[in-house]
Amino acid sequence: MIAKAKAKPKIALYWAASCGGCEITMTELGMDLVAVSEQVEIVFWPCVMDFKYSDVEAMADQEIDVCFFNGAIRTSENERLATLLRQKSKILIAFGACSHTGGIPGLANGYSRESILDVVYNTAPSLDDSAGTVPRLSTNMPEGEITLPSFYEHVKTLAQTVDVDYFMPGCPPVVEQVGAVLNVILEGKLPEPGAVVGVTDKTNCDVCERKAVGKSAVRIKEFKRPHEIIADPDICFLEQGIFCYGPATRAGCGLPCINGNMPCRGCYGPPEGVEDQGAKLLSAIGAIIEIETPEDVERVLDSIVDPVGTYYRFGLSDSILSTLKYGNGKG
Ligand code: SF4
Ligand code: SF4
Repeated sequence: MIAKAKAKPKIALYWAASCGGCEITMTELGMDLVAVSEQVEIVFWPCVMDFKYSDVEAMADQEIDVCFFNGAIRTSENERLATLLRQKSKILIAFGACSHTGGIPGLANGYSRESILDVVYNTAPSLDDSAGTVPRLSTNMPEGEITLPSFYEHVKTLAQTVDVDYFMPGCPPVVEQVGAVLNVILEGKLPEPGAVVGVTDKTNCDVCERKAVGKSAVRIKEFKRPHEIIADPDICFLEQGIFCYGPATRAGCGLPCINGNMPCRGCYGPPEGVEDQGAKLLSAIGAIIEIETPEDVERVLDSIVDPVGTYYRFGLSDSILSTLKYGNGKG
């Protein structure tokens, strides 16, 4: 149920480096989206309607009341729009995991810009013979110059680029959370700037019903990937030797993954007071693995495929390892 606004706020929605899932969450509001559109004036939503960047440039500063910005900052175009929308918006919300903590695009920070472009445009198998055709920032054509945005060395979060007022985590934020935050906006009841909105201060383990079954002093000898065993739906994933981000993830999603018998991957980001989600998870895991000899350490570590991607699935850009490369940057 969407609240009635006292005045019609102007809303903008934009996507930068992201998959588009956050935009789909908005459309999942269904008939509530119709109610929202009656309560607000959507002044920029290029994914859905034919707005131009020049429309935003023509606005007065802070003319937009609330901007939902999803996606990380990967290119000069992403950065340009982040800066422009910051200038034109009273309230800027980092919407979804990519703008909040870097998300899946942030995993590319382990590789150099050159190695990424080389794989994409030179060595990846392709059905056409375009290998070696690398995009150029500027190309002169008879009709004039064509330009492309530049591709940055690192993926940044929105808050690493411009000032952000609120954060809505999730890959994507669940639709109930979106509805709740829209109501808070329409009622004019947003908390103090800087808050993570639409969530709780608890962790997923705090709200997960599996913990009642698995609170024994478990010791893990090796980790398995979800497809390697059939997980018991009543027992904590960690007790079954399956990585679960529950201890290091902010609650608020309603646990759709865990209820679907898949472990949490941490898309809601670190809980309150935790600076680095991967470090928090590492410390939680360290407390439950069985290690008696140095060989045990190697055996347990060897059973973790892709440790950086495991510990920082959605938060590498926002972590203490944000610019660390694999090997020479080529993986
Ligand atoms: S680790 Fe995962 S499965 Fe276990 S209690 Fe926490 S959220 Fe639930
Ligand atoms: S259970 Fe974990 S991975 Fe799944 S939606 Fe919630 S926070 Fe994200």
